Amino acid sequence: MIEARALIKRFGTLTALDGVSLRAADGRITGLLGPNGAGKSTTLRILYTVLRPDGGEAWIDGASVLAHSLEARRRMGVLPHGAGVYPNLTARENIEYFGALHGLARAVRRARAAQLIARLEMQPFADRAAKGFSQGERVKTALARALVHQPRNLLLDEPTSGLDVMAVRTLRRLLGELRDEGHCILFSSHVMQEVAALCDEVIVIAGGRVVVQAGPDELKARAGTASLEEAFVRLIDPNGAQDGP
Ligand code: ADP
Ligand code: MG
Repeated sequence: MIEARALIKRFGTLTALDGVSLRAADGRITGLLGPNGAGKSTTLRILYTVLRPDGGEAWIDGASVLAHSLEARRRMGVLPHGAGVYPNLTARENIEYFGALHGLARAVRRARAAQLIARLEMQPFADRAAKGFSQGERVKTALARALVHQPRNLLLDEPTSGLDVMAVRTLRRLLGELRDEGHCILFSSHVMQEVAALCDEVIVIAGGRVVVQAGPDELKARAGTASLEEAFVRLIDPNGAQDGP
């Protein structure tokens, strides 16, 4: 379970987050949906402890990201935006290396890497250096790496950007399976269809504020429209959506 309360983040005079509160439950896929610059990455970076907020608090399974960041980190797997992989290592070595960083014994990290390679259908490129990987191969490697310590919570920042149809499908299937196993999944996207296809819960963020947190159907009902896309536009810009002929 992931919780944030009243997160504030300023960059100079810009207020990137203006009191963001959210909750992502176990066994659910929660989508953080918002336009570019809304504050999605800033929120996620605070949650995965690489950025300190100027105000507010957040917890991963009850562990404070501020006071107990190590404990919080142990409980989550992270796929940062445009996640890089070590180019001189193979996919398998990338995964095993992260296992080592998490303190897993050699035999354990070997076994975990092998499992993840099979599960993510990475066999064709698992033992090649990551240097020449396609975007899809890179994302799978980064995702496997994020899962090597079997975290209950998974945070992904725009995981499908730049992926081809097949890679998106594999990713969706995997996130669905992890959800069914009881994991808590929080991912960001600026693409409505993505969120509609995948999420049990949607958090709409705009201008550093959470506009609404609801299920996809409830969201449509609240905005009084049939399409999630239109609901989204209305929520982030109530005036703009009323402009019509
Ligand atoms: P999103 O991920 O939703 O596109 P971000 O969280 O990356 O949005 O950014 C929110 C706002 O904060 C944007 O206006 C962005 O330009 C600004 N911002 C993010 N990171 C920094 C930074 N390190 N320095 C200055 N401004 C930043
Ligand atoms: Mg972003």
